[in-house]
Amino acid sequence: MTMAAFSYAYSEAGISNATEKLCFMAVGDCTDEEGYSHVTPSFIAAVACCDVASVPVHLASLSAQGHIDVVGGSFRDSLVIRVTEIARQYEATPRVKIVSKAVPRRIRDAVYERDGYACVYCGEETDDFSRSLDHVMPQSRGGEHTVDNLVVCCRRCNSAKRDRTPEEMGWHL
Ligand SMILES: [Zn+2]
Repeated sequence: MTMAAFSYAYSEAGISNATEKLCFMAVGDCTDEEGYSHVTPSFIAAVACCDVASVPVHLASLSAQGHIDVVGGSFRDSLVIRVTEIARQYEATPRVKIVSKAVPRRIRDAVYERDGYACVYCGEETDDFSRSLDHVMPQSRGGEHTVDNLVVCCRRCNSAKRDRTPEEMGWHL
């Protein structure tokens, strides 16, 4: 999610409750290319200036309004949230250029096999849910859907890396 796309989606979301709005911002600010966000309840509480115990209530409200779906993780440590509202508007709006196209399956499978289904940055074994593909040279900077430019990356590392190169992150392949 680029900042421009996020700002647009955020301004259009129309969330009236101020604390919920900040919770949504905390979640939305951490989304990866596919609209998934890995955040801790304490991070959300810090951004929204609210009690961490109230975070589940705010997220339930945002979910009921169709802005997000809590799809994994736990309220004790880290949550996995799909930002439905952002993803929908991001795809629908003609004001935002969509750079992501699906990686062809044969390329995807070749990368998975080469990297042994483990995140190349942190080494974590990935499953169907936690696995994503990272463009070593980001798409937004001209990186292509090629086996040489793609690596297996856990969603956590992908969220952190965004549109930077491994060198810029101080990471090694
Ligand atoms: Zn990782």
